Amino acid sequence: MRRESFDVVVAGAGPAGLNAAAAAAQSGARVALLDDNPRPGGQIWRGPDGAHPARDQLRQTIEPLDVTSYPQCRVVTQLGASTLVVEQRGTPLRLDYTSLVLATGARERFVPFPGWDQPNVVGLGGLQALVKAGLSLEGKSIVLAGTGPLLVAVAATARRAGAQIRCIAEQASFGAATRFGLGLIAHPSKVSEAFGLLSPALLRRFRFGRWPRRALGDGALEAVELTDERGSVQTLPCDWLACAYGLAPNLELAHLLGCKTADGAISVDDHLRTSVDGVFACGEATGVAGLESALVEGALAGHNAAGDTQRADRLVDSRRRHAAFGDAIERAFAPRPQLRELADDDTIICRCEDVRVGQLRAHPSWRSAKLHTRCGMGPCQGRVCGTAVQFVFDTPPSSVRPPLFPTSAGVLAAIDESSLSPSSASADAS
Ligand SMILES: Cc1cc2nc3c(=O)[nH]c(=O)nc-3n(C[C@H](O)[C@H](O)[C@H](O)COP(=O)(O)OP(=O)(O)OC[C@H]3O[C@@H](n4cnc5c(N)ncnc54)[C@H](O)[C@@H]3O)c2cc1C
Repeated sequence: MRRESFDVVVAGAGPAGLNAAAAAAQSGARVALLDDNPRPGGQIWRGPDGAHPARDQLRQTIEPLDVTSYPQCRVVTQLGASTLVVEQRGTPLRLDYTSLVLATGARERFVPFPGWDQPNVVGLGGLQALVKAGLSLEGKSIVLAGTGPLLVAVAATARRAGAQIRCIAEQASFGAATRFGLGLIAHPSKVSEAFGLLSPALLRRFRFGRWPRRALGDGALEAVELTDERGSVQTLPCDWLACAYGLAPNLELAHLLGCKTADGAISVDDHLRTSVDGVFACGEATGVAGLESALVEGALAGHNAAGDTQRADRLVDSRRRHAAFGDAIERAFAPRPQLRELADDDTIICRCEDVRVGQLRAHPSWRSAKLHTRCGMGPCQGRVCGTAVQFVFDTPPSSVRPPLFPTSAGVLAAIDESSLSPSSASADAS
């Protein structure tokens, strides 16, 4: 297996990872930057060159620096204390590092309800990604639902793509959302961002304390039933329903490395050190706090990973301010417990393996459920249903085992061979 050696390896090339790579290289480190997507940019900066000036500017910053990019590259497993095995387009590769930065971002949190697995019922970020990939919503009637600032961003995107927005159902109460809005005064850039996205027409579509309880249709979505705390039901005909309940940090790699996590995010100190020596974490993987926070954390983690504590120290206060914004999001938009009751026994919870909620009830743990039903064992490897099961059944996250992603037998054989070779044994011992 080919082997490369770096001072700093950054896993994830979203805003946090890109900035971490730039900062580490500016501090004199030899850096590797890997991401499973063909282009850097993560969730927010998707699309062709020119689509996001901020991303293109960061790429230009990185270009003359000592940063080797590995696009379409996934971490498969760890080999010894300072080596990752990654797979790039079917070929395994060993990456040795002195420091590792986890910038693995977050994904949408889905809460299953009857009908959520029908065509045209998608996540909020999912709809946004489809629009960015060219989907036209011209004349389509849309209901947006879920919680948090992503609702506003996706409503603006859908409107620009020609959608007729019937309703924006925010599960948080009007009071919680208003308190959050007033708190934005401490974050002026967020106020101007919100004003840039929210037109009076969009504001009129908001309904607070409301959420979908059922998507109706027979092979194609026809309508959505919204409900509220009092149990009243409103049926809205629509062509699309986009629904997600905030974001959940991607923790698989952190768990594999043995990093501590708490409240669904990687635990870090003020310098973004994780509980494992030489491993740092930044961006949404440490908690959901938005783009600016991801950029500041990326720079802080990158400088620290390169051993440049002087530059890193200057960013600690700014990072704390952004983290406070993340805490405010979490307080205001925590999914309400009633959402746990939406799915009935017949509702599919694992869409890869067609597992229904009722099949899981008999099992005392996620592991037992997995072994008996194959829930979480399909192509997404529990990335969608794992978070849903955790929320609906209020269970702890499942343990993670390599490989982190489905991979070929050839790659597994190469890993096996490599872990048995004398050179890897001495590298592991050192
Ligand atoms: C679906 C979605 C839509 C969003 N839309 C908006 C929006 O419209 N406006 C807004 O302000 N904010 C939006 N956000 C939030 C925004 O993405 C974040 O604030 C910011 O991008 C976080 O940057 P990040 O670098 O921490 O994570 P991300 O941007 O998520 O980047 C993480 C990267 O790491 C990669 N990765 C993860 N694990 C591995 C692995 N094991 N191996 C290789 N690569 C890996 C991922 O593929 C991804 O490219 C959205 C978030 C999500 C999840």
